[in-house]
Amino acid sequence: MTDFESLGLSKPLLRAVEAEGYTTPTPVQEQAIPPLLAGRDVLGVAQTGTGKTAAFALPVLQIMSRNRPQGKRYIRALVLSPTRELAAQIDDRFSAYSEHLDIRHKVIFGGVNQNPQVRALQKGLDVLVATPGRLLDLINQGHIDITNVEFFVLDEADRMLDMGFIHDIKKVLKLLPNKRQNLLFSATMPSSIANLAGSFLNNAIKVDITPEEVTVDRIDQKIMFLRKADKRRLLVKIIKNERVECGIVFTRTKHGANRLVKQLDQSGIAAAAIHGNKSQGARTRALAGFKDGSIPILVATDIASRGIDVDGVTHVFNYDLPNEPESYVHRIGRTARAGRTGIAYGFCDDSESGYLVGIQQLIGKEIPVDASHEFHFIGAIPKPGQKPGKVKDPNAPKKKQRNRNRSKQGGGRSNRGGQGAPRGKNNGGNNKRSNRNRGNRSGKRNTNQNRRPRDD
Ligand code: AMP
Repeated sequence: MTDFESLGLSKPLLRAVEAEGYTTPTPVQEQAIPPLLAGRDVLGVAQTGTGKTAAFALPVLQIMSRNRPQGKRYIRALVLSPTRELAAQIDDRFSAYSEHLDIRHKVIFGGVNQNPQVRALQKGLDVLVATPGRLLDLINQGHIDITNVEFFVLDEADRMLDMGFIHDIKKVLKLLPNKRQNLLFSATMPSSIANLAGSFLNNAIKVDITPEEVTVDRIDQKIMFLRKADKRRLLVKIIKNERVECGIVFTRTKHGANRLVKQLDQSGIAAAAIHGNKSQGARTRALAGFKDGSIPILVATDIASRGIDVDGVTHVFNYDLPNEPESYVHRIGRTARAGRTGIAYGFCDDSESGYLVGIQQLIGKEIPVDASHEFHFIGAIPKPGQKPGKVKDPNAPKKKQRNRNRSKQGGGRSNRGGQGAPRGKNNGGNNKRSNRNRGNRSGKRNTNQNRRPRDD
């Protein structure tokens, strides 16, 4: 078995890794650390939960500490991250891994007063972790100079594009020096990301940790079919019966998250919501309470939960099934982290059966059904041959002929995402290639369709 030492890491980093309790490198670490130490660019297809932060932070720290330039510190490593939470967590990892090194790092993001960030920048930094908006803002104000950056890390690149950051990324790239080492990590590799990667990576080594490997065996997945109106009662029952002390509940909308928190409260369950409309203070408080155990249930939307790095999450509830299959993998990856086990419940009502079909195609297997609850509803079970995607509401007003035809060609998705032939072509695949293709399609769909609010 490979250990961290054989990857070529230096003593101070080995000590830090040991203090974190890591004994064996994860696959992404095993594959990415040696080429990064050798100075290569790396393109990593890996998502949060795979240990990718250490995969890039450890070699970057090691190379940086080999030769520390004399004089005032300047930004030598720039890590771009799409959300505040993720950026803060990356910075937190830099703290842990640089424990025995003379490295100064700082995270900056929007939604908070910039003055403390500016003061830290003025003192001089080696590593800057940033969300794109605040980074460009402070560059424009003359507080940040990225012209001497030696390492550029673009993390969660697919999410960056979903969130509309592509122009900001291009602006940042123009300001960076030509000679630098580049790292790009993305959970999926749609053509938009492949193009972006091609535009700035040089002869990169590709490290591919596919979703199948990420949908770890340690997660006990269950699907429960029920009516929408029964979801809340089932959730309360499970939380109480299983005495859930650290669980995340995913809803599709911010409003739904707020409402559910109130309803859980009425049932005597302490919960907090985390989503893009919450102030930074409220999000930080919710996460802190969740981490210290005073808030057992976090109700989250996908975007805000991205990268929530809490090791002890025992339960993930897909209260609303995600309409993007990849989100399912991200969500359930919040549990069973750092070698632990976890359980992921999916609540599927009759409007969501097509989403379940899409999820099962992506992960390449059927999720076991738990029908042993009082709300079991056979009307929510996918029909034989059902296509992935949105289920048409039989009560919805009839659409024009032209739209009906397009929807038929597009493999059943009646919304704007239905893009005809490519989707139909891949519908039946369960293998790796088809899974990756699904990722591609989803990437395209996201960029065009579900443009999300920017998070910084
Ligand atoms: P990441 O994918 O970087 O968000 O990491 C996910 C979680 O795995 C974090 O809580 C890390 O502290 C933890 N982790 C990273 N590498 C290892 C490892 N080699 N062994 C055990 N846990 C790890």
